Amino acid sequence: DVAVCLFTSDLRVHDQPVLRAAVRAATRVVPLFVVDQGVAAAGFVTANRAAFLAAALADLDSSLRSRGGRLILRTGDVVAETCRVAAECGAGEVHLAAGVSGYAARRERRLADRLAAEGRRLVVHDAVITAVPPGAVVPSGGSRPGSGKDHFAVFTPYFRRWWAEGTRPVVAAPRTVAVPEGVRSAALPTGAELCPGGRPSPALPEGGEAAGRRRFASWRRTGLAAYEDRHDDLPGDATSRLSPYLHFGCVSPVELVRTAADRDDAGAYAFVRQLAWRDFHHQVLAARPAAAWREYRTRGDRWRGDGVEAAAWRAGRTGYPVVDAGLRQLRHEGWMHNRARLLAASFLTKTLYVDWRVGARHFLDLLVDGDLADNQLNWQWAAGTGTDTRPNRVLNPVVQGRRFDPDGAYVRRWVPELADLPGAAVHRPWRLDGRERAALDYPAPVVELDAGTARFRRARGLD
Ligand code: FAD
Repeated sequence: DVAVCLFTSDLRVHDQPVLRAAVRAATRVVPLFVVDQGVAAAGFVTANRAAFLAAALADLDSSLRSRGGRLILRTGDVVAETCRVAAECGAGEVHLAAGVSGYAARRERRLADRLAAEGRRLVVHDAVITAVPPGAVVPSGGSRPGSGKDHFAVFTPYFRRWWAEGTRPVVAAPRTVAVPEGVRSAALPTGAELCPGGRPSPALPEGGEAAGRRRFASWRRTGLAAYEDRHDDLPGDATSRLSPYLHFGCVSPVELVRTAADRDDAGAYAFVRQLAWRDFHHQVLAARPAAAWREYRTRGDRWRGDGVEAAAWRAGRTGYPVVDAGLRQLRHEGWMHNRARLLAASFLTKTLYVDWRVGARHFLDLLVDGDLADNQLNWQWAAGTGTDTRPNRVLNPVVQGRRFDPDGAYVRRWVPELADLPGAAVHRPWRLDGRERAALDYPAPVVELDAGTARFRRARGLD
């Protein structure tokens, strides 16, 4: 008997309930990944994520080989290909991790229907992509259908319940994976094959489970204890940088939560809380899939569109150094510090009053961790159309720059035009005297901060 383990955003062998269940259900398992043309057609295959994905697939293949198996790769429509593989191998069951997007829900329904029509069964596993499954934690009375309380819209009460709920135990990696003979597989793809014509950023992280586990192991020793104090330190770069590994499922959120929570200190608690933010956004998207592109809470905004100011923002040439530094880091590394993401997003949506979807699209184009739930809902949070309980606050990039990059080291690292400016002066280059200012090849501010804020407040009917 044969079972198929269909990998999606869970490219790992450790703490992998889908693979474990498939191995337990049948004597032979087909570990399958389909390069899904539906995902590419939706514009989600970008050069940066393709490079990371290619490495993650190669790493997964090598872990499976060390267990006597291998990864089977196919290309096409994920539902059609999975059914074809199941039919070729005579598999009775297909195992899959539950996803949260509208696309994942449709994929699951289509697969379940087609497999059932062929006399096979789809088994969907929770708590693979998130630590706590969406729907496991709902507001009081929320389980009643139609109660309108099928998810939490505010983080703090969600977190209280999430913490009380706890996670499932970590499951061990299977020792052996026996793959049936003769299953056809495409060759492992390169990033360039997955995203033809794309140009990856020059300083991307190394993809794959092995790299993700190494990163967590070393950051746990060197960064976790100080995380609470240092997570907002822009130049210190003291966060885990695990987000791409979480996005592709190269590391397990359950394993991170449980390993971190073993340490009873403020750093571990703060880190686990951030992982709960990730689950929080996933449960919002699972309950409201349309919130990926539509406003979760409308504030009556008539956003400005994608014009010259948005182009300056994308290029990292707004004239606000800390905003520009973040956007240039994004282009170079395919990653950005959370504080820089917040500043860049507040600046685009509030100070420039440009539609959050313009910024969200740019982030998705470049972020290696670009994730529908985390990106779109964080953008909506920053734009005040999401779950922020203070939807009209505007972050001031000068004040924020001086607070989180007090000596200007982060700006100098990413904006070389300003590298010679001393200390915090780097946050206000327009204050330099005329000759010094003219010598810098750095733009004047694209908008004056007070004018931008006033426009936003008028638009929201606050003044
Ligand atoms: P750490 O500080 O080490 O945190 C550990 C983990 O907790 C992260 O890897 C992440 O999985 C989770 N986490 C932390 N903060 C958040 C948060 N605010 N929301 C959800 N999860 C969180 N994160 C993504 O993974 N993908 C995205 O596409 C994404 N887009 C964002 C867009 C905007 C506008 C903003 C403000 C934030 C976005 N984030 C996104 C959240 C956050 O910025 C990143 O998860 C974090 O910077 C990743 O770095 P790290 O792994 O070092 O985080």
